[in-house]
Amino acid sequence: MSAIFNFCAGPAMLPPAVMQKAQKELLNWNDQGVSVMEVSHRSKEFIALTEQAEADLRQLMEIPSHYHVLFMHGGGRGQFSAVVNNFLGNDGNALYLVDGSWSQAAVEEAEKLAGKDNIDTLELVSNIDGLNHVSLPDLSKIDKDYRYVHYCPNETVDGIEIFESINSPWPVIADMSSNILSRKIDVSQFGLIYAGAQKNIGPSGLSIVIVRDDMLALPTLPQSSIMDYRLAVKNDSMYNTPPTFAWYLAAEVFSWLKSVGGVAEMEKLNIEKAKRLYHCIDELDFYVSGVAKENRSRMNVTFQLTNAELDSQFLEEAKAAGLVALKGHRSVGGMRASIYNAMPLEGVDTLIEFMKAFAAKHS
Ligand code: PMP
Repeated sequence: MSAIFNFCAGPAMLPPAVMQKAQKELLNWNDQGVSVMEVSHRSKEFIALTEQAEADLRQLMEIPSHYHVLFMHGGGRGQFSAVVNNFLGNDGNALYLVDGSWSQAAVEEAEKLAGKDNIDTLELVSNIDGLNHVSLPDLSKIDKDYRYVHYCPNETVDGIEIFESINSPWPVIADMSSNILSRKIDVSQFGLIYAGAQKNIGPSGLSIVIVRDDMLALPTLPQSSIMDYRLAVKNDSMYNTPPTFAWYLAAEVFSWLKSVGGVAEMEKLNIEKAKRLYHCIDELDFYVSGVAKENRSRMNVTFQLTNAELDSQFLEEAKAAGLVALKGHRSVGGMRASIYNAMPLEGVDTLIEFMKAFAAKHS
């Protein structure tokens, strides 16, 4: 079979080198004669794996020592509820910035748990001449006290990314599910960062939480123990049995990232991949992007065919050419090429060649 390039938004492709290593050692991990799936999470070997994973992630993201790194259950949405339950107590307010579908989904979960009166929202996106632009509000002008401000720097469905930092008088919580490890960020600007694993880290279900120590002093309410950050810290993310296979793969992805030059190298590659693909979209009248240049996501490149009647043919021919999972999210239509860390430049170039040939054929 010739090469397949998988542009799925998540669960997304993982680095082939990681998958090959996992395949090789699936039945015999660490010379133990059993799979990593079959060993105790409290075994000396597995604990060593978790320690290495944390050390690698700390190095990759330059995480300061007053931040805890947690490996939790429940993916991205699990954290939508966890942040509310961990930080709002019974009288706290929070501000949610909305720049697309996932930040809106986080609002809905927060309103359900904390009540609408305790959740304020600010819409960041305005559509000017058919292009979605993000503008960041001056939060220092708001005369209200919030426990935190929540936002999503990369909106996976809408293809919108916020590159500027959020200046806020309150701790900033960021849902980095779809752009963690894709570019350098200054962790010290955040109260908490979380990410569902299934894009840049590993299999779905696992989520990574990076939380500043002082956040854990905020009032909390009785809540599900497995989503309680304080219990997770106290028990080294092993209050209950963790998703061990996902943790193992995450550890392998971190190790691979280090071997290819870390986040700085990844960022360079991601800039190049996105630049080439958006250039192709802009260059050909056949395709159009609905996002303003400064807010175009480097991870999720959304675009439309100017003739939407050709959508299904585009997808069919792309699939036949080995380019799969390019269909846009059902809520927005069009196309979406998710080009996370594991997608090689070659995959993007192959897609561009296909897009050019398709446009030439159908123009
Ligand atoms: N936040 C973002 C930015 C996402 O892209 C996703 C999933 N695509 C989620 C949250 C939800 O993640 P999960 O399905 O793991 O709950």
